[in-house]
Amino acid sequence: MKPTQTHPFDKKLFQDNVKRHLNVTYATTVESASPHVWYLAMAKAMAEMTMLNLLETEQDERVIKAKSVNYLSLEFLIGRLTGNNLISLGLYDEINDAMQELGHSLTDLLEEERDPSLGNGGLGRLAACFMDSCAAMEYPTVGYGLHYEYGLFKQSFKDCQQKEAPDAWQGIEGYPWEVARPELKQDIGFYGHVDVEYIDGEERRTWVPGMKVQAMPWDLPIVGYENNTVYPLRLWEARAIAPFSLESFNNGNYFEAQHALIDADNITKVLYPNDNHEKGKTLRLMQQYFHSAASMGDILRRHKAAGFSLDELPDYETIQLNDTHPTIAIPELMRILMDEQAMPWDQAWGICSRTFAYTNHTLLPEALESWDESLIQRLLPRHMEIIYEINRRFLLEVSAKWPGDVSKQQKLSVIQEGFHRMVRMANLCVVGAYAVNGVAALHSDLVKRHLFPDFHELYPDRLTNVTNGITPRRWLKFCNPDLSNLISEKIGDEWPAHLEQLEKIADYADDSEFQEQFMAVKKANKQRLADWVQEHMGIELNPDAIFDVQIKRLHEYKRQHLNMLYMLSLYHRLKTDDSFDMHPRVFFFGAKAAPGYYLAKEIIYAINKIAETVNADPQINDKLKVVFIPDYRVSIAEIVIPAADVSEQISTAGKEASGTGNMKLALNGALTVGTMDGANVEIREEVGDDNIYIFGLDVDGVDELRANGYNPYDCYQADPLLKASLDLLAGETFTPGEPGKLRATYESLLNGGDPYLVLADFASYVQAQEAIDHDYRDIQVWAKKAILNTALMGKFSSDRSIRDYVNRIWKLKPVKR
Ligand SMILES: *Cc1c(COP(=O)(O)O)cnc(C)c1O
Repeated sequence: MKPTQTHPFDKKLFQDNVKRHLNVTYATTVESASPHVWYLAMAKAMAEMTMLNLLETEQDERVIKAKSVNYLSLEFLIGRLTGNNLISLGLYDEINDAMQELGHSLTDLLEEERDPSLGNGGLGRLAACFMDSCAAMEYPTVGYGLHYEYGLFKQSFKDCQQKEAPDAWQGIEGYPWEVARPELKQDIGFYGHVDVEYIDGEERRTWVPGMKVQAMPWDLPIVGYENNTVYPLRLWEARAIAPFSLESFNNGNYFEAQHALIDADNITKVLYPNDNHEKGKTLRLMQQYFHSAASMGDILRRHKAAGFSLDELPDYETIQLNDTHPTIAIPELMRILMDEQAMPWDQAWGICSRTFAYTNHTLLPEALESWDESLIQRLLPRHMEIIYEINRRFLLEVSAKWPGDVSKQQKLSVIQEGFHRMVRMANLCVVGAYAVNGVAALHSDLVKRHLFPDFHELYPDRLTNVTNGITPRRWLKFCNPDLSNLISEKIGDEWPAHLEQLEKIADYADDSEFQEQFMAVKKANKQRLADWVQEHMGIELNPDAIFDVQIKRLHEYKRQHLNMLYMLSLYHRLKTDDSFDMHPRVFFFGAKAAPGYYLAKEIIYAINKIAETVNADPQINDKLKVVFIPDYRVSIAEIVIPAADVSEQISTAGKEASGTGNMKLALNGALTVGTMDGANVEIREEVGDDNIYIFGLDVDGVDELRANGYNPYDCYQADPLLKASLDLLAGETFTPGEPGKLRATYESLLNGGDPYLVLADFASYVQAQEAIDHDYRDIQVWAKKAILNTALMGKFSSDRSIRDYVNRIWKLKPVKR
C-alpha cells in the first residue's frame, strides 16, 4: 500500500463493494454473474474510489484558486480505463489478489472491457496522453469533449473488404467509469436571429436562438500516476429539453412532440470517422458549437465560483484548442463578454486574445477547416457578426503593416472571398490565440515557412513548437509488463514518471546477458501476439520471424501501399529467383479507412487479397506472412506494439505532422524504418543514425522533384523490380479468374500521377529493408539497436510535452495533493 494514499486500500471492503454492485447495480448474484458482469462490478467499485478523489480534487481550495488549463478537443481516444487506472492507483497486485479470491482472473476480466473509441487516431490519442500527463504532474486540468453515443465504427472484413458497424461503446449496461453531473447541465442555442436595442445610446445586440438543446456532462476520472489527484474528462451529451413541445404533447400529438427530441439527440449521436479530412457538414458544425459553448459556459462558471472577475480570466484559465475543431469558442467568448456582460469590444478582446492557444495538426489542404459563411450565418448568426468584426479589425492591422498590399489582405483574411465565401478556421485561430504550436520540430518549421509565413512576420512571437509525446504509463508500464520489470530491475522503478532515466539502460546495450533478457521479453511478447492471431484469425505465425508493423489510419500520405509494394517485391523474388534468400518476415497491418475514402478501402482490399494468397502458398514456405488485424484500436495497439521488431513510419516527407505511433513502437524496442518526416526526424536525433533506417526523399527533395515535374512512369520503366511488383496488381495472381480487381492502386500510382511519390521512394525503401534483413540476422547487433531505442526515448514522454506547454504557453504551477 502506498503511503501517499488518502483512502488506503481495504481488500475486504473492496470485495464487498464488488459484490454489492453485482447485486444492486447489475441485478445479479455471485453464483450467476457472467465474467462480463464481474468486470463491470469490479470497475464500478474502482470507479467509486477514483470519484471520491475527483470530487476532493475539484473542491480543493488550492486547485480552485490555481490557474488551470482547459483542453478542448472533439476527440479523446482514451482506450480502456480499468487496467491503466489500476496502474495509476498502484493497486494492480492488490486487486489481482482480491479478484483471485473471488474466483476470477484479473487479466481475463480486463479483456471484458470495450474500448471507448471516442477519436479517430493520433489527434484523439494525443489528447488522452496529455490528460494522463497533466494528472501525473498535477497541473490543474479539465478535459472537455463530446459524449458520442457511437464512437469510431467497428471494422470487420467480408470477402477481404472493409465493413463498418456502429460502435455502441457503453454497452447495454452503461460504461462503469463515467458519472453524470446533472447539476452542471446547460442549455445551448442554435439558429434564430439577432435583436438590436439601444440602451443609453449604446447599441446592444442579443442573439435570440430559434432552438435550444440541453448539454449533459458525463465525467470520466483521469487518475494521476501514484498521486491523489484525479481530474475530470468532461464529455457533453446532447439531449432534447423536456418538455420538448408541451403544446403538441397536450394535443395528443405525441409523435410530433418527439421530433425535437430526435433532432437534439442527433448532435452527439456519432463521431465523424474522417481522419485528416473535413467535409463541411451542418451536423458537424453543430457538434463543434455544442462542444465549444457547453465547455465555455462551464469554464466561466468555475471561474466565477472561484470568486474571480472576468478581467482576470487569462490569469486563471487558459484554453488549449486541439486543432481548429473548437475554434468557435473564440467568438462564443466574445459574445458572452459583450452581449451578456455588456463589455466594450476592446476590453472583451483583451481578455479573449490572452486566453486561447491553438495547436495545428496538419498542413494537408483537405484537412484545413473552412465553413460556408452562409452555414455559420444561419446556424450562429451572432457569431458570424463577431467573426466579421474580428476580421475587420485584423485587416486594419494587416494594411498598417503592409500598406496598399491587397494580396496580403486576401491571403490573411479570415474570410475567403469568392462565389461561396468561406470562413477559414485556422486563420481565425491564429488571429484569436496568444500562442500557436505545431506538433514536431519539422512540422512547426513548415507551419512558419509554408502555412502561415505572413502571420509569422506579423506576429513573430506567436508561432512555436511543442513536440508530441506519449504516456509511458500506458505505452510501456501497462502494455509491456515484462519489459517494464526488466528495466526496473536494472534502474529502479521511478522511470514511468521520469522517462529520461531510461537512458541508464544504454549502459547495458552491449551486455550480452541483458541483450538475451531483452530479446527473450521481445520473443514472449511476439508469442503472445502470435497466439492472439492464431485464436482470432486462424493464422499460424513463427515468432522467430521479423515482426514488421504498420498500424495507423489508412491514408495515402501514410503510404501503406508503399509497404504493400515491398511485400509484392518479396513475393515476386521468392517465386521467381531460387537464389533469393531472406529472413522470415510477418507483415502486420492495422488500419481503418474512412467509410467514404475509396482508394483507402481499395488498398485494404488489396492487402487482404495478397494475404490470402501468400499465406496459403506452400512455395513461400512461411518466409512471408501477411496479417491484417481487423478493428485496429488502442487495445489492439497494446498487444501489437510490445511484439514489434520493425516500425513502419513511411509517410511522404512533409505530410505527417508528428506521428505518435512511431514513439510508442520505438519505446518498446522496435526499430524504425522511416522517412525524414514528423517526429521521425527527432527520433533519429535521439537514437543516432545507426539505430534507425532512414530512406527516401526529404522535404527539400520532394519539393525539387515536384518542381522538376515528376513522372511515375519514369520510375516504373527504370526499375524492373518495381515494374514486376506493380504488374502483380494489374494481373490475376491474387484474384484468380478475375484479372484487374486490384487495379485501383496501380492506376492511382501510374495514371493518377502518384500524388504521394510512392514510386519515387521505392528503390530507397527496398534498400533500407534489405539493411534490416541483414542486421536482424545477427541477433546481438539487433538487440543492441533495439535496447538503444528503448533507452533513448525519454524525450518522447508526454510529460515532457506537457512541461513544454506549461513553460512556453500555459504558465501553470502544479498543485501537489
Ligand atoms: C497512437 C495511435 C494512433 C496514431 O498512430 P500514428 O502512427 O501516429 O498515426 C492511431 N490510433 C491508435 C489506436 C493509436 O494508439
